[in-house]
Amino acid sequence: MSEGHDRMDSHDPLFGAAQVDCGSAIHQLYHYLDGELTDERRTQIADHLDYCGPCAGAAGFETELRRVIADRCKDHVPDSLRQKIADLIEAERVGDA
Ligand SMILES: [Zn+2]
Repeated sequence: MSEGHDRMDSHDPLFGAAQVDCGSAIHQLYHYLDGELTDERRTQIADHLDYCGPCAGAAGFETELRRVIADRCKDHVPDSLRQKIADLIEAERVGDA
Protein backbone atom coordinates (compact mmCIF):
# COMPACT_ATOMS: atom_id res chain seq x y z
CA MET A 1 0.00 0.00 0.00
CA SER A 2 1.70 3.17 -1.15
CA GLU A 3 -0.40 6.29 -1.49
CA GLY A 4 2.72 8.18 -2.34
CA HIS A 5 1.23 11.61 -2.80
CA ASP A 6 0.33 14.32 -0.33
CA ARG A 7 -3.16 15.69 -0.69
CA MET A 8 -2.62 19.22 -1.82
CA ASP A 9 -6.22 20.37 -2.16
CA SER A 10 -5.41 23.57 -0.33
CA HIS A 11 -8.25 25.68 -1.70
CA ASP A 12 -8.95 26.81 1.84
CA PRO A 13 -6.93 30.01 2.40
CA LEU A 14 -6.30 29.01 5.98
CA PHE A 15 -4.60 25.87 4.80
CA GLY A 16 -2.55 27.94 2.42
CA ALA A 17 -1.21 29.94 5.33
CA ALA A 18 0.75 27.00 6.64
CA GLN A 19 2.43 23.97 5.20
CA VAL A 20 0.36 21.50 7.15
CA ASP A 21 -3.39 20.99 7.09
CA CYS A 22 -5.55 19.85 9.99
CA GLY A 23 -5.30 16.19 9.08
CA SER A 24 -1.54 16.07 9.07
CA ALA A 25 -1.36 18.45 12.01
CA ILE A 26 -3.44 16.14 14.18
CA HIS A 27 -1.67 13.07 12.91
CA GLN A 28 1.74 14.52 13.63
CA LEU A 29 0.69 16.19 16.83
CA TYR A 30 1.52 13.02 18.70
CA HIS A 31 4.98 12.93 17.21
CA TYR A 32 5.31 16.62 17.94
CA LEU A 33 4.48 16.05 21.58
CA ASP A 34 6.88 13.14 21.68
CA GLY A 35 9.62 15.33 20.28
CA GLU A 36 10.04 13.06 17.28
CA LEU A 37 9.78 15.78 14.66
CA THR A 38 12.43 18.05 13.27
CA ASP A 39 12.53 21.63 14.48
CA GLU A 40 11.22 22.73 11.10
CA ARG A 41 8.24 20.43 11.28
CA ARG A 42 7.50 21.40 14.85
CA THR A 43 7.53 25.03 13.80
CA GLN A 44 5.07 24.31 11.02
CA ILE A 45 2.71 22.54 13.39
CA ALA A 46 3.12 25.25 16.01
CA ASP A 47 2.17 27.79 13.36
CA HIS A 48 -0.87 25.73 12.49
CA LEU A 49 -1.90 25.48 16.13
CA ASP A 50 -1.53 29.22 16.39
CA TYR A 51 -4.46 29.90 14.09
CA CYS A 52 -6.41 26.64 14.13
CA GLY A 53 -8.66 26.42 17.19
CA PRO A 54 -9.64 22.74 16.91
CA CYS A 55 -6.06 21.59 16.52
CA ALA A 56 -4.85 23.90 19.27
CA GLY A 57 -7.52 22.48 21.54
CA ALA A 58 -6.36 18.97 20.77
CA ALA A 59 -2.77 19.99 21.37
CA GLY A 60 -3.66 21.60 24.67
CA PHE A 61 -5.48 18.49 25.77
CA GLU A 62 -2.61 16.23 24.82
CA THR A 63 -0.11 18.50 26.52
CA GLU A 64 -2.17 18.65 29.68
CA LEU A 65 -2.66 14.90 29.64
CA ARG A 66 1.05 14.32 29.33
CA ARG A 67 1.76 16.80 32.09
CA VAL A 68 -0.60 14.91 34.40
CA ILE A 69 0.98 11.62 33.46
CA ALA A 70 4.44 13.06 33.99
CA ASP A 71 3.43 14.44 37.36
CA ARG A 72 1.87 11.24 38.58
CA CYS A 73 4.70 9.12 37.31
CA LYS A 74 7.52 11.45 38.21
CA ASP A 75 8.98 8.91 40.58
CA HIS A 76 9.49 6.66 37.59
CA VAL A 77 10.35 9.20 34.91
CA PRO A 78 13.98 10.15 34.38
CA ASP A 79 14.88 13.81 34.73
CA SER A 80 15.83 13.95 31.09
CA LEU A 81 12.32 13.01 30.02
CA ARG A 82 10.72 15.44 32.44
CA GLN A 83 12.94 18.19 31.08
CA LYS A 84 11.95 17.17 27.56
CA ILE A 85 8.27 17.48 28.41
CA ALA A 86 8.88 20.84 30.05
CA ASP A 87 10.68 21.99 26.91
CA LEU A 88 7.77 20.88 24.76
CA ILE A 89 5.29 22.74 26.93
CA GLU A 90 7.46 25.83 26.73
CA ALA A 91 7.80 25.43 22.98
CA GLU A 92 4.04 25.36 22.64
CA ARG A 93 3.85 28.71 24.37
CA VAL A 94 6.24 30.35 21.92
CA GLY A 95 3.33 31.64 19.88
CA ASP A 96 2.22 33.81 22.79
CA ALA A 97 2.68 37.42 21.78
ZN1 LIG B 1 -6.05 22.45 12.26
